[in-house]
Amino acid sequence: GSKELGRSCYSLYHPDMKHHANKRMDLEILLRKALDENEFILYYQPKVNLHTGEINGMEALIRWKNKLDQIILPDAFIPIAEETGLINPIGEWVLREACRQCKEWQDLGFGDLTISVNLSPKQFQRQNLVGMIISVLEETGLSPNSLELEVTEGIVMKNPEEAVIVLQELKQLGIKISIDDFGTGFSSLSYLKFFPIDILKIDRSFIANIERDDADAKITSAVISLAHSLKINVVAEGVENGEQYDFLVNRSCDYAQGNFISKPVDPKEVKSLLVYDEAFIIT
Ligand code: C2E
Ligand code: MG
Ligand code: MG
Ligand code: MG
Repeated sequence: GSKELGRSCYSLYHPDMKHHANKRMDLEILLRKALDENEFILYYQPKVNLHTGEINGMEALIRWKNKLDQIILPDAFIPIAEETGLINPIGEWVLREACRQCKEWQDLGFGDLTISVNLSPKQFQRQNLVGMIISVLEETGLSPNSLELEVTEGIVMKNPEEAVIVLQELKQLGIKISIDDFGTGFSSLSYLKFFPIDILKIDRSFIANIERDDADAKITSAVISLAHSLKINVVAEGVENGEQYDFLVNRSCDYAQGNFISKPVDPKEVKSLLVYDEAFIIT
């Protein structure tokens, strides 16, 4: 736990480490308070279907809105939430809120909308993850078919025997499994064969220079072909301009996400994105 970490750092007595340990404990206390006092919020980033041009999915991305109304990004607190185990209650809150919100949008008329939720490795290790997910779906009334869970290669490779069982249970419920940041891990490709994967999300580091870096363009094209031959859909992350978008359309990539389409937005803004999209399709 954090106490042990604090103590061992004190005994080493390096002034920087002491400072670091103190900062970490402060942050842990603040995170606990943030959870109790409802300071976490979700932003949503749309995912566009490149075959139809429709927005039919959203990824939930956590933010922490502190007392000063500053928005703190997940990279600044998710690692500490993971180390302290707070990621479990936080992750459960994220799932419940994202499912509730998706159901609300569906009830407003966007019936096909899917929601993607990121799962951290710690959550994956927890007892009865599947049971927790089932109760959240029951409580919120969201169909399992509308939910996608994003996991990283590391999660599945850390404990493959257990991971495959959990993923198969989730898959049987109708939940879709997505591999996030694909291509950045150090795992073998054999897990594509053993795990029930529906979607690969190509990491944005491959997309960033796709229009001028020949190697990135070839890797991306090859990943799309590989995935399609295994009946896996492909999402490109971090699409920032029209050239990247066109490249992906030409290579039959299935979905794209990124600032070119929309940055992650407050739920109030999502509604107008969906309304606009729907109006656009009707005309
Ligand atoms: P991720 O799941 O790979 O999410 C994509 C990240 O890329 C998001 O950062 C998003 O804002 C950013 N992004 C999207 N489009 C673009 C673009 O065009 N250009 C650039 N440069 N960036 C783009 P964000 O929201 O800061 O989240 C960072 C990471 O934090 C996420 O990466 C995910 O791993 C983690 N995270 C976010 N929300 C949650 C959560 O609820 N639970 C857990 N466990 N992790 C979360
Ligand atoms: Mg993600
Ligand atoms: Mg990602
Ligand atoms: Mg990424």
